[in-house]
Amino acid sequence: MDAPAGVKTDPNWPIPDRMKAWVLGNPGELTLTEKPVPVPKKAEVLVRIDAVAICATDLDNIYHGPPALIQGGPPFNKNWTPGHEYMGTVVALGPGVDEYKIGQRISVEIHAGCGQCKRCREGMYTSCHNYGLNYGDVDKGHRANGFTTDGGFCEYQINNINTLVAIPDEMSDEEATLVVTAGTAMYGLTELGGLVAGESVVVTGPGPIGLLGVAVAKAMGAQPVILTGTRDNRLVIGTELGADHVINIRKEPDVVAAVKTRNGGKGVDYVLECSAAPNAVNEALYMVNRGGKVCLAAFPHDPALVDIAHIVRNNIYLLGIRGEGKSATHRAEAFMRQKRFDATKIHTHTFALEDLPTALRYAKDRVEDAIKVVVKARGVPAVQKEAAE
Ligand SMILES: [Zn+2]
Ligand SMILES: [Zn+2]
Repeated sequence: MDAPAGVKTDPNWPIPDRMKAWVLGNPGELTLTEKPVPVPKKAEVLVRIDAVAICATDLDNIYHGPPALIQGGPPFNKNWTPGHEYMGTVVALGPGVDEYKIGQRISVEIHAGCGQCKRCREGMYTSCHNYGLNYGDVDKGHRANGFTTDGGFCEYQINNINTLVAIPDEMSDEEATLVVTAGTAMYGLTELGGLVAGESVVVTGPGPIGLLGVAVAKAMGAQPVILTGTRDNRLVIGTELGADHVINIRKEPDVVAAVKTRNGGKGVDYVLECSAAPNAVNEALYMVNRGGKVCLAAFPHDPALVDIAHIVRNNIYLLGIRGEGKSATHRAEAFMRQKRFDATKIHTHTFALEDLPTALRYAKDRVEDAIKVVVKARGVPAVQKEAAE
């Protein structure tokens, strides 16, 4: 990389001019190609990407398009690199950056808001009013890497310093990729009220956010924490992460009654909805007690009918969260650093960066009960072709 004036590099951390990068063509079509290594501007650093976790939202972006929004439209055939849950090492500092050092390991948040709109000023940078306005004549500097700008399925990426989370040496690369997932769960619990010690919480859906939602709620002192889902192998992990009760809704289809039975016959104070199931919102509304709060953290594909009269009659609060706002990743990382829960219980597979299509297939089809699948640019031998297919 040719470092322009003001950009700091270090000979101990040499940076090539070009890098390997996956790019999206038509829906579901990824090609491994080369791109120039990007150059950090003011308030940005260059990150050497060491590991990237695959998220269900990556699969939405790659196969369907939204919520990715590239140059105001669908992400297909725009030389765009997906991937957003990554960690790595800072290898170059943009002009004026002294908050981080070259050689420092970090994990990243996705959303760097524009920093100048009303919501960014309130700390709600995942709801930036200039979302996706980062190109052409309307460049507001907004970045959501892997959604509105190039992401992490490559060797290097630039990040605003506001999106960096310092991690300790003892934390593995794989665990560090999970900071933003735990941060999303933390943001949901922050928005539900923050102080959940002694309050009853249901988490619906044992995907990565739901499982870490159980872990974070328990670490914050919630009691009881109840997890609902359909797969026993994931419910077992939920118990290991701190759930007081788990409910397999295939065995107990009246999930509202099943929740109340486990909470002394009453509804719970909070529901964190992470399943995106068709009737999940109504079930969540019937699970909370009067005046309770429901936070929606999953993206369903279709609109749903919602029992609004029940919300009004019972003074229920219903809110949605987008991603990891209000610095929640820092609070989540603090729990992980203190080993308040073991996030690695949800990490199941690691592949080399060049095996991304295999890794995506494992995540999409849940091959070998995959939950979090991680790809690494170095240190992982590529899968033999015969074994991969
Ligand atoms: Zn994600
Ligand atoms: Zn903004």
